[in-house]
Amino acid sequence: MSIRTSILGYPRVGANRELKKAEEAYWAGRISKDELLQAAAQIRRSNWLLQKEAGIDLIPGNDFSFYDQTLDLSLCIDAVPERYNTLRDDRLELYFAMAHGYQKNGIDVTAMEMTKWFDTNYHYIVPEFVKNQEFKLTYNKAAQEFKEALELGIKTKPVLVGPVTYLLIGKEKEAGFNRIELLDRLLPAYIEILKELESLGAEFVQIDEPILCTDLTPQVEEAYRKAYAAIAKATGLKIILTTYFGGLADNAVLAAELKPAVLHIDLVRAPESLDGVIDVLPAGTALSLGVVDGRNIWKNDFRKSLEIIEDAKSKLGQERIIVATSCSLLHSPFDLENEHNGKSLPAQVKRWLSFARQKVAEVVTLADLAGGAPSECSKEALKCNTADIEDRRTSPLTNNDEVKKRMAAVTPDFAKRKSPFGERIAAQHRELYLPLFPTTTIGSFPQTTEVRSWRSKFKKGEITREEYTALLKGEIERTIRIQEEIGLDVLVHGESERNDMVEYFGEQLSGFAFTQNGWVQSYGSRCVKPPVIYGDVSRPKAMTVDWITYAQSLTDKPVKGMLTGPVTILQWSFVRNDQPRAVTMKQIALAIRDEVVDLEKAGIKVIQIDEPAIREGLPLRKADRDEYLDKAVEAFRISASGVKDSTQIHTHMCYSQFNDIIRHIALMDADVITIECARSQMSLLGAFAEFRYPNEIGPGVYDIHSPRVPSVDEMVALLRKAAQVLNPAQLWVNPDCGLKTRGWEETKSSLQNMVRAARIMRN
Ligand code: GLN
Ligand code: ZN
Repeated sequence: MSIRTSILGYPRVGANRELKKAEEAYWAGRISKDELLQAAAQIRRSNWLLQKEAGIDLIPGNDFSFYDQTLDLSLCIDAVPERYNTLRDDRLELYFAMAHGYQKNGIDVTAMEMTKWFDTNYHYIVPEFVKNQEFKLTYNKAAQEFKEALELGIKTKPVLVGPVTYLLIGKEKEAGFNRIELLDRLLPAYIEILKELESLGAEFVQIDEPILCTDLTPQVEEAYRKAYAAIAKATGLKIILTTYFGGLADNAVLAAELKPAVLHIDLVRAPESLDGVIDVLPAGTALSLGVVDGRNIWKNDFRKSLEIIEDAKSKLGQERIIVATSCSLLHSPFDLENEHNGKSLPAQVKRWLSFARQKVAEVVTLADLAGGAPSECSKEALKCNTADIEDRRTSPLTNNDEVKKRMAAVTPDFAKRKSPFGERIAAQHRELYLPLFPTTTIGSFPQTTEVRSWRSKFKKGEITREEYTALLKGEIERTIRIQEEIGLDVLVHGESERNDMVEYFGEQLSGFAFTQNGWVQSYGSRCVKPPVIYGDVSRPKAMTVDWITYAQSLTDKPVKGMLTGPVTILQWSFVRNDQPRAVTMKQIALAIRDEVVDLEKAGIKVIQIDEPAIREGLPLRKADRDEYLDKAVEAFRISASGVKDSTQIHTHMCYSQFNDIIRHIALMDADVITIECARSQMSLLGAFAEFRYPNEIGPGVYDIHSPRVPSVDEMVALLRKAAQVLNPAQLWVNPDCGLKTRGWEETKSSLQNMVRAARIMRN
C-alpha cells in the first residue's frame, strides 16, 4: 500500500472568484437562486475532480460554503438566534440574513458577529448561545454534499467544525452559563449528522478541532473526552481529529486519549511537535502529517519534508501515516498557472511559488517519493524542486544592503514619541480645535464600479496617467464636499486611488511582488489578494503625500492622512519564510515611518496608521504572545514616532477582542484609536474601561459590513453606553471600519445620522 494523501479543504471561491461574482449578482437580484446554486455546484464539482485527477485519496467534502463553515453548522443544527425567526421560510435567505443582517419588507434585524478564524484573516460568524439553547438537526449540508460527490464517483471525507471548537468559538448572549456546558445538548444533533454520513457510506470524517492547539482548561479537556467517547460509541466512522495553526504540545496526551482513527498535526507551524505526538500515539491511530503549508505560497522544500515523513514512517510504518496539507487550502490562492504578468510577478519569483492546485500535486509527489517506489515523474519533480529551492536561497533578489545597514542603525529612540500623551494631546487640541465627540470616518469611501473602472482602464493603458489623476482628483473633491456637507470634523480623502489597503502600499515598496489572481477568501464573498514579500523592504519615494495634500488643499477642516501599518502589511501579505517575520516587520516599519514624516512635512496634522490585523497575528498559546506583541508594538511605534507632539496619530483596529491584549494596545500609544464596537453593542469597551485606557478612543457606532442604515437613536444609545464607561472627553464618533464596500446613498444617510447622534451627545 502506498502512503495515503489528504487535503484538508480546498478554496471555494473558484479559480476566477466565480462564487463571489454569483453571490453578489444574487444579492443584487441579477441572477436567480437556481443560478446561484448551480454556480456553487459547479465549483464543488471542479474542485473534487481536480483533486481526484491529481490522485488525492482523502478528498474533502462539505468544505464548500456560501459564507462560512461555522455559520453553516449553526444553520444546520438550528443554532439560529431568535431575531431571525420571521425569516425561517427560506433557508438561504435566513442564512444570508444571519451573515449580513436584513432590512427589507418591514423587517430589520442585525447581522451576527463576525471575527477572525484563529490567527488567519478568514472571518467566521460567531455562534450565539443562550442559556436554554437547543440544537436540532434541521438540515444536513454535509450529507447533501457527500451525496453530490458520490454521484461523481467520489467518496469524499466530509469536513466539520468539531463540537468543542464550535462551542468555544461561540459566545454566550446572556449571563448565567458557560457555553461549554451546552455540549450535552449539542452532541445528539452533531452525532445525527455523522450517523447520516455513515449510512450514506462515508468512511472518514474530518473533524476540525484547532482549539486543541490552544491552552485548555480542565473543563474543556473533560468536554473533549465526553464528546469523542460519545461519537465513537454512536458511529463506526473513522474520525480524523484535525488540529492546525499550532502544535498540540501538552494536549497531545489528551488527543491520544480520544483515540481517533487518524490524528492530524500541523508540521509547518510546529515541526518540533512530531516526536512528542508519536510518543503518545495510540497503536490504532494513524498520523496525518501536515507538511505542505496551507497558509503560505512558497514551494514546499521536498528534501525537508521528506526527512519528516521518513522519520514518521520509520517509527509508525507507512500504513500509519498520511501526507497532507498543514491546514485547509482555503487560505491559499487557487492556481499559480493563472499568473501571467511577469512585471508584477517576475518569473524568478514565480519559480519559488506554489498555490492550492500546486500544493495538491506536492502532497501527491511527497507521498510517492516517501513510499519507497517513486515514479520517474516524482523523481524528476524532486530534482526540479531541489533546484528551485536552491535558486531562491542564493538569489540576489532577496537581499538589499542599504536596508540591512539601516536596520542595524535603529536605536530604542526610534520607537519613542517626544513627549508623553498628556503633553501631546494638549498640543494637538491647540492645533486642531475639535468639538467634544469629534466625528470622523475610518478612511475609505464607497468604491463605485466607476472608480474601479478608471483604475482598470489606467492599468490597461486605456487612459493616461494625467487622465486617471484628474478623475481621482474629481472624486476626492466630491468626497471632501460631501463630508463638509454632512458636517464631519476630521475629513479623509476617501482612498479612491487604492485597490486594497495593503496592495496599494506594497506596489510602491521594494521587495514586494503581486499576483493577478491570487485571491483568498476574507469574509463572505470578499476576497483579498495578498502581496508576496520576497525580499528586503524599502520605500523608494513618497506614496500618499500628493493625494492627501491635494485633499487638504480643498478644505479648512483637517484631513487625516491614511496609511497601513507595518503589522497589518506583514499580516496580510504572504511573507518570506527565510528570515524571522519580525525582521521583515521592522523593515516595513521604517518604510512607513518615512511616509509619516513626509506627510507631516507637507502640512498634514492628523495621520492614521491602520493596524486592523494586530490581533489576528496573536499566537494561539498564551506563552508565545508577549514576544509577538512586543515586536508588533515596537514596529508600530517605530512607524509613528518620527513626528512632533502636535501631530495627531490615529490607529484603527476592527474585529478585535481586546481583553487579552489591552496592555499592548495601550503601549502602542496612538493618540486616538478607533475600534469595532457596534456589532458587539459596545461590550468591547469593557476592556478599555477596566484598564483605564488613557488615550482618546472612537468606538465604532455602526456596522459597515451591512447595508443597513442605523438610526440616530440607536447610535446615541451606543454612545451613551460608551460615555458611561469612559470619560466623554476621550470619545470620538465614527463607523466601525472603512466604507469602501458600501453604496453612497446608505453611506450618506448613515453618516448624517451619525453626526446628528454626535450633536445630541454634545448637548
Ligand atoms: N483605512 C481603511 C479603510 O477605511 C481601513 C480598512 C480596515 O480596517 N480594514 O478602508
Ligand atoms: Zn477596519
